[in-house]
Amino acid sequence: MDFAELSLKKRIKRCRDFSAPYRVVDGDSFKLSDIDPADTAKLESEDKPKAKEVLQLGVETLAALQDQLYAQDRWSVLLIFQAMDAAGKDGTIKHVMSGVNPQGCQVYSFKGPSAEDLDHDYMWRCIKCLPERGRIGIFNRSYYEEVLVVKVHEDMLARQKLPPQLVRKSIWDERYQDIRNIERYLVRNGTVVLKFFLHVSAEEQKKRFLARLDDPSKNWKFSMADARERGFWKDYQKAYEQMIRATATKRAPWYVVPADNKWFTRLVVAAAIIDALGALELAYPEVDAATMAELEAARAVLEQG
Ligand code: ATP
Ligand code: MG
Repeated sequence: MDFAELSLKKRIKRCRDFSAPYRVVDGDSFKLSDIDPADTAKLESEDKPKAKEVLQLGVETLAALQDQLYAQDRWSVLLIFQAMDAAGKDGTIKHVMSGVNPQGCQVYSFKGPSAEDLDHDYMWRCIKCLPERGRIGIFNRSYYEEVLVVKVHEDMLARQKLPPQLVRKSIWDERYQDIRNIERYLVRNGTVVLKFFLHVSAEEQKKRFLARLDDPSKNWKFSMADARERGFWKDYQKAYEQMIRATATKRAPWYVVPADNKWFTRLVVAAAIIDALGALELAYPEVDAATMAELEAARAVLEQG
């Protein structure tokens, strides 16, 4: 049956099934090579127009759920996006969240740390940006950079002003552990935590970088530094795999999303968010009898005037 004709409950179920193959809840058995960046779950490029239609319906479904999330004002939702450059983080955020009321959504992009950031522990700047209850907070990059770019370029660690005796071999395992603990704390306090790794292949990244050079409207997106990072591709893939293995949990899962086809990436991300919001059994707050009577009195006043 068409997605359009399904009830909300059935749409949520469909989203759960669709996103499940990419969800990692138990790191121990995870291997990055198990996920093909070009995977489209057997959908062909002829299905692309249909996929776009379904995404539009997904966006509407998400907007309806977010409206209830906001009205209920109990849960917060934290969506973390990590990826190599040009994997499509920005476009995915833009498209998937396009129907959501801007008042209920906050996006933060984390770049290299400032001098003020470096005067604190690495979580400090992220904790300041955590979503309020009733809101969806999006981290475009996050504290996970601390076990990715900082691990690949260890000289960055030296600039973090840590007491030297704390900078030892076990620091990466300690960071994984601290991240797991912080996420557990957030979940226990009513934040839903979903983490997305947009998994692009080296060949597709190269194509997208070349497109940024060829198209004047994309020139601004190209950076020589990004191209240089390609030289560390293998180190990054290893760091991503280790990070996912160490921090994928049932309460704060990773989604490893094939990212060579943007239309497919967006579908999986939208489905995963709908699944998570659907599981909260959101509802508009019910009005008690006294308030109901007040509303009726207000109606009477309005009708008289
Ligand atoms: P886009 O390229 O699509 O505009 P982006 O997220 O790549 O988005 P950039 O300004 O290109 O944004 O890059 C941000 C850079 O900041 C990345 O290279 C990332 O690795 C780096 N960065 C983020 N957090 C940290 C951190 N904690 N320590 C060091 N570098 C970091
Ligand atoms: Mg960049």
